[in-house]
Amino acid sequence: MTDPASPQDGRPRVLTGDTPTGRLHLGHYVGSIENRLRLQADHECYFLLANLHAFTTRADRPDDIRRDTLEIVKDWLACGVDPSRSAIVLQSEVPAIAELTWFFAMLIPFNRVMRNPTLKTEIEAKGLGDRYPFGFPMYAVGQCADILAFRPAYVPVGEDQVAHIEMCREVARRFDQVYCGVDPHCEDDDYPARGGVFPIPRAMVGRVGRLVGADGKQKMSKSLGNAIFLSDTPKQVKKKIGGMHPGQSRQPDEPGDPDINPVFTYADIFIKDRALVDALKDRYRRGDNLGDGHVKAAVIDAVNELLEPIRARRAEYEGPGGDDLVIDIIRDGTARANALTEETLWSAKEAMRLGFWRRALVARP
Ligand code: ATP
Ligand code: MG
Repeated sequence: MTDPASPQDGRPRVLTGDTPTGRLHLGHYVGSIENRLRLQADHECYFLLANLHAFTTRADRPDDIRRDTLEIVKDWLACGVDPSRSAIVLQSEVPAIAELTWFFAMLIPFNRVMRNPTLKTEIEAKGLGDRYPFGFPMYAVGQCADILAFRPAYVPVGEDQVAHIEMCREVARRFDQVYCGVDPHCEDDDYPARGGVFPIPRAMVGRVGRLVGADGKQKMSKSLGNAIFLSDTPKQVKKKIGGMHPGQSRQPDEPGDPDINPVFTYADIFIKDRALVDALKDRYRRGDNLGDGHVKAAVIDAVNELLEPIRARRAEYEGPGGDDLVIDIIRDGTARANALTEETLWSAKEAMRLGFWRRALVARP
């Protein structure tokens, strides 16, 4: 088996993805998409549509999940993901992932899953109480399989995902130790060389690990109703940013603190002209006749400048035939993913003494 950190063509392998619970937003863009666009130039990239995970919170809305799955691909393509270079993969058609999930579920204590801080935060933020389905915590184990099925070197994600990646690294080490006899004391990077099936992948956090939502408080999230979507119109962007609370109450001629104003967080991230941001902050601190509306207007312009080309490219997939085009793209990417993940599954099965005979996956035309 090839070492994922240096596969045959020399490009390190990357796996990441999104759950189709809605369209993509600015948090995704600065947290992960930017990294993907950069990496696809010289990495072997797989971008996963985690459509099965969408069922953890929306099992009763299959039509929405199907629609969102296609919408997210349109967002990726609009951002510049190039399907000739990067494989766009549909999770529900990669059986190796489901099978590895079962294997990994035996290697991780139930209480360890439930202690995962990201899971806890999600249960709280989404108001799931204690009525979430069994499959909800199971998705954390499933995500280990999503990643490890591809044996990637890197996983570009936002900050909230780092706890998940840590769990994935634990599972990989445990598998390699239990079934491949890898010495628990060896360095993470040495696992494949010591005979491990799985590498110990690294999280790669984007330029902005956690973009705050338009509510100025919580992480920008599809499910929290505080997102500015990549497909929002200029008018919607204006309304959402225009409605942001500056985190303090002040008049234009009163000194303010830009550090507690989420509009300035956006200014730092989206306005390219550093000198302009510094000047605005300076005037804000001094109370030099600078209204919040003025700062917001500069941010709105910057965000629209970023989104304009994305909107234009997205329009190409929005007409009739757009969905068919997207389905062709994910079908092709999923076939590439299956070629790889079936190899991983076979190696894992062999290590688990489950390697009785090999199988071939054939997609019908
Ligand atoms: P959901 O509410 O369904 O959990 P989400 O908005 O949190 O949706 P995910 O699909 O869970 O989005 O995340 C996809 C990727 O985008 C992950 O790598 C995640 O870390 C990153 N991400 C999501 N929201 C943000 C954010 N506000 N800032 C930075 N990165 C983010
Ligand atoms: Mg999330």
